[in-house]
Amino acid sequence: MLKIKSAEILCVGTEILIGDIVNTNAAYISGRLAALGITQYYQGVVGDNPKRLSARLTEALERCDLVIMTGGLGPTYDDLTKETAAAVMGRRLVPHAPSMERIKAYFERSRGVMSAANEKQAWMPEGCIVFDNSHGTAPGCVIEDDERGKAVMMLPGPPREMKPMWDESGEPYLAKFSDHVLVSRNVNICGIGESAVETILSDLMRSSENPTVAPYSKDGEVRLRVTAAADSAAAGLPLCDAMIARVRGTEVGKWIYGIDTSLEEALVRLLKERGLHITAAESCTGGLISQRITSVPGASEVYDGGVITYANRIKETLVSVPAETLAAHGAVSEETACAMAEGVRLLMGADIGISATGIAGPGGGTPEKPVGTVYIGISTPDGTEAKRFSFTGDRERIRLLTSSHALRMVLVSLMRPDI
Ligand code: ATP
Ligand code: MG
Repeated sequence: MLKIKSAEILCVGTEILIGDIVNTNAAYISGRLAALGITQYYQGVVGDNPKRLSARLTEALERCDLVIMTGGLGPTYDDLTKETAAAVMGRRLVPHAPSMERIKAYFERSRGVMSAANEKQAWMPEGCIVFDNSHGTAPGCVIEDDERGKAVMMLPGPPREMKPMWDESGEPYLAKFSDHVLVSRNVNICGIGESAVETILSDLMRSSENPTVAPYSKDGEVRLRVTAAADSAAAGLPLCDAMIARVRGTEVGKWIYGIDTSLEEALVRLLKERGLHITAAESCTGGLISQRITSVPGASEVYDGGVITYANRIKETLVSVPAETLAAHGAVSEETACAMAEGVRLLMGADIGISATGIAGPGGGTPEKPVGTVYIGISTPDGTEAKRFSFTGDRERIRLLTSSHALRMVLVSLMRPDI
């Protein structure tokens, strides 16, 4: 009987080898394999070359139970993954009627012309398990070899096809080999660094085996992934929740803004609950704060509009920053940030105005205000304040961190019972 305890990912594509694209497929699948408790010791990338592909696949199959391949399932001449893997596993390709029908229907819907090459996509290794592609034409599959105790899984290269196929078919297939289910919850934290979180929680993390607690940082925030192994999801969730309650009881607790959410989602939800409207005047973020708020479905209930006030002239004319304030303190100052936040709040008739003005770099820094100096302002009818931040990193990261802290400042102010 086939048992899958270890796996290797083998991504196919010359573009990955030459650095044209980043191997996000491997990153995604690796994270999911870890959650499934399937061990990975090696990972590979191979160009669109059947000889080398065959050699790498053969090698990988010596080392592990399952090789997961992505890419090369398309209709073109350089898409050879299926043919090569079938040969390595000693299978012929045979027409798969349901896939043929699905691909035909796909072309009829999109009014495209189905070519012989597209038909090739419906030829599958004999006896394999076929995975439907809900976002494209190429089916995926698993070839199982019970005798050798080995399997090869094939998924399409484009992440927008690969991820849904993994979620809908790949992961459920692998879950059958696990004697337990893994349940994870993400604790969203903002305002404190990953190493600080790790220091505060080190005893808790070391002493807990189930659920496990692991921090990781993403887009200027820290997430704590709490994962429990249990007989069922229903049994695993309370284990996660009990661990989250313990984390809330530590110093980290006050930086938690939600569970399985994002800053913008948590903010929009809270604003809706309070019946409040928000707006933003943005300089260095160029609209990123508004973009993040409006990325949440239903944001129109809490957001009517915002402005990008990049040049001083626009700060003066659109959000009424006094010329004297700009002259005396500069565009990147507490005073300007306050004036922007208040000005945009009044302009839009909103309850909360936020502003961001700073030096995102790489140029423009001075000894007093080096690159990464950012002021974020927040204005409500009760008052206006701004905070200075010193971010590090490149332009993109500084802008992202600024938007995250702006959203976080509003969240924190809303969570304060006195508002
Ligand atoms: P297609 O039908 O589009 O040809 P395919 O399964 O043959 O799909 P490839 O031709 O290998 O896949 O790759 C198609 C595109 O998918 C690549 O140009 C790239 O944009 C993306 N892609 C492929 N492999 C990866 C990967 N490992 N990580 C991220 N993106 C990838
Ligand atoms: Mg291709």
